[in-house]
Amino acid sequence: MTPSDVKVLFSAEEIAARVHVLAREIAAAVDHNCLLVAILKGSFVFSADLIRELHDAGMRPQIDFLTLSSYGEATQSSGHIEVVHDVTDRVRARAVILIDDILESGRTLAYAKTMLLDRGAEAVRVCVFLDKRHKRKVPIEADFVGFECPDKFVVGYGLDHAHYYRELPYVGVIGDQPRAD
Ligand code: 5GP
Ligand code: MG
Repeated sequence: MTPSDVKVLFSAEEIAARVHVLAREIAAAVDHNCLLVAILKGSFVFSADLIRELHDAGMRPQIDFLTLSSYGEATQSSGHIEVVHDVTDRVRARAVILIDDILESGRTLAYAKTMLLDRGAEAVRVCVFLDKRHKRKVPIEADFVGFECPDKFVVGYGLDHAHYYRELPYVGVIGDQPRAD
């Protein structure tokens, strides 16, 4: 049941269809033995669906997790990013794909990409579920994108607002307000 304050933006069916195709786009382009690094917490649902589609598409990746936090206003990432839980697998000389929920200012993914390249990763590619491409503050683009996302604060499919809504099987918008920056 959809909470009364949430308007569906991408349904569970639309997401499943897109993740199926996205996995095939990735499998056609990358080393099948790469290391996938899911950025927590927001990407956990997307990552779980994507890795099973990647398996069906023939890939045999290793999977690790990186928990980052950025401090600032509740609905906006700030420039200060901290590693809360680091990757534990070897990164040096690996082809890495970073998986994140949303690419917005680009600060989070630019930080993670630089960190892994500094540790000697052979290549770091970026896969995001949602791309707010007009909100970029630093120059970084995703190699693989699930959906273009309007400039609204979205929840569900792993994405939260104050730790709620992550369990929604679809992506929705709370209210109908464009975000103030
Ligand atoms: P940035 O690219 O600005 O560094 O940060 C992107 C991060 O901000 C995402 O990983 C996500 O955690 C958070 N974020 C950005 N837009 C939204 C949104 O609409 N909803 C939610 N729940 N988080 C968002
Ligand atoms: Mg995030």
